[in-house]
Amino acid sequence: MAEAAVKTQPETTAAERELTDGFHLVIDALKLNGIQTIYGVPGIPITDLGRMAQAAGIRVISFRHEQNAGNAAAIAGFLTKKPGICLTVSAPGFLNGLTALANATTNCFPMILISGSSEREVVDLQQGDYEEMDQLAIAKPLCKAAFRVLHAADIGIGVARAIRAAVSGRPGGVYLDLPAKLLSQVMDAEAGAKSLVKVIDPAPAQLPAPAAVKRALDVLKNARRPLIILGKGAAYAQADDQIRALIEKTGVPFLPMSMAKGLLPDTHPQCAGAARSTVLKDSDVVMLIGARLNWLLSHGKGKTWGDPHSKKFIQIDIEPKEMDSNVAIVAPVVGDIGSCVSALLDGIDGKWPAPPADWVGTVKTKKEENIAKMAPRLMNNSVPMDFHSALGALRAIVKERPDAILVNEGANTLDLARGIIDMYQPRKRLDVGTWGVMGIGMGFAVGAAIETGKPVLAVEGDSAFGFSGMEIETVCRYNLPVCTVVFNNNGIYRGTNVNPAGGSDPAPTVFVKDGRYDKMIEAFGGVGVNVTTPDELSRAVNKAMDSGKPTLINAMIDPAAGTESGRIGNLNPQSVVRKK
Ligand code: ADP
Ligand code: MG
Repeated sequence: MAEAAVKTQPETTAAERELTDGFHLVIDALKLNGIQTIYGVPGIPITDLGRMAQAAGIRVISFRHEQNAGNAAAIAGFLTKKPGICLTVSAPGFLNGLTALANATTNCFPMILISGSSEREVVDLQQGDYEEMDQLAIAKPLCKAAFRVLHAADIGIGVARAIRAAVSGRPGGVYLDLPAKLLSQVMDAEAGAKSLVKVIDPAPAQLPAPAAVKRALDVLKNARRPLIILGKGAAYAQADDQIRALIEKTGVPFLPMSMAKGLLPDTHPQCAGAARSTVLKDSDVVMLIGARLNWLLSHGKGKTWGDPHSKKFIQIDIEPKEMDSNVAIVAPVVGDIGSCVSALLDGIDGKWPAPPADWVGTVKTKKEENIAKMAPRLMNNSVPMDFHSALGALRAIVKERPDAILVNEGANTLDLARGIIDMYQPRKRLDVGTWGVMGIGMGFAVGAAIETGKPVLAVEGDSAFGFSGMEIETVCRYNLPVCTVVFNNNGIYRGTNVNPAGGSDPAPTVFVKDGRYDKMIEAFGGVGVNVTTPDELSRAVNKAMDSGKPTLINAMIDPAAGTESGRIGNLNPQSVVRKK
């Protein structure tokens, strides 16, 4: 039978026909959709996929751990509005990447995690394959969408669906499962080429309803103490000019969430960053633009927000379900931020009453007071350095280098840097985001350097750095202009804790005393510097940023300077019962 079938084939045999396979189709599908970079870790079954992608002109950035590759892909998505691609091996590699995928989804960053997987037949019968795992089922609840492709002819559609799911509507993480067998599946090249899909308009504009725009403007216009809060959705939208115009035309004070800092400069006269507590508590109308009323904004209620009866919220968001998630939204405006803000601007049309002068004056006075109070602490050139004096030095550097990208994580290192370091341009501050997750540092630094070509300053707590520190080798391997400053206070929160039992083990929150993180980068040919004063820190960072050489600066911080859990100590339950 089989032989008869072969004999009835037309003259061109399979060997003569031009063929393609799963590997090529995945690469062709990505290229067709403008994907220029893949972040990942090679291994079974995707080693050849990475090699072939590189051969085909895609930039392939290899990491030491999938979580960092995933974080690089996620931040690439945030910076470019195109899905960042992370490529991993099966089961454990997939799981490592999954943390970054879940984090991307939580932060509304578009990203696609592509993982190789073991044989379906074996996995589904649980017969014990190499790295056996039902990856699709595991990924599903942790991302926006998850797809598996079983036939080479479906790769084009699979990639198209993944791209659309990642960037349309509220952006997020997508999982794409590629079983090993799929990659080597062979099909006719011409049919394969025809099966690919170039996604047209992957993130279509979503226009707000005119009535919703009018309602929002009416509420804002009647405010006595208005406030606009800009979130990272506003930064993501790349509607920088419209957002600036809206703020300047209305004259309303604005408060940037941490990754929205720089959308307008923190030094802008309307910026209320330094009067945060006052504007949250005393405002009567709050317009949220791409910011959620989650824990970072105390859910829009409680002490932080003052009298709930004198507070009205307007919210601009692409996700309708976000409305009323924590408190009532009196004027929901659903649509993409570019379209919504443009529609608001059209509605304003020249004439707009300036906000009451007493409100503007109150905000200004409060802001000036707080800035003046902080100033001497930032200029102190003492030894050992504390967080304020070290950050004062970095603040001056960022002011002189406004187009550098600041990556920031840690506890005290994060909370204090967010307030102290002013940002001047959009999408220059990348940090722990919605989850407050540690471990984004080196992944974000690499992703940002690759995507933007700009110098990166990564300001890292010593504990935070530990989660991704091995990628310092990646920074050196690709010779990236990344200057990492490790705020070394000998431990988590502070380095002075002792073992309460008096044994020889250190307390769980402390690290090796006076460790030298700078030595790590020297192992890979980078520049390591140890500094103990703000002046030394300034010199070392400036030199690193001028040279563009991979640099790691170990900045010794007073181990007694930090506070437990930084600014969010209230979230850290502490036992009041101490057994004798
Ligand atoms: P932050 O932490 O800075 O307050 P969040 O991540 O909580 O910011 O909120 C971002 C919001 O922005 C999300 O609700 C998301 O749906 C929304 N968003 C993201 N991109 C867009 C866009 N292009 N247009 C409108 N809303 C967007
Ligand atoms: Mg520390």
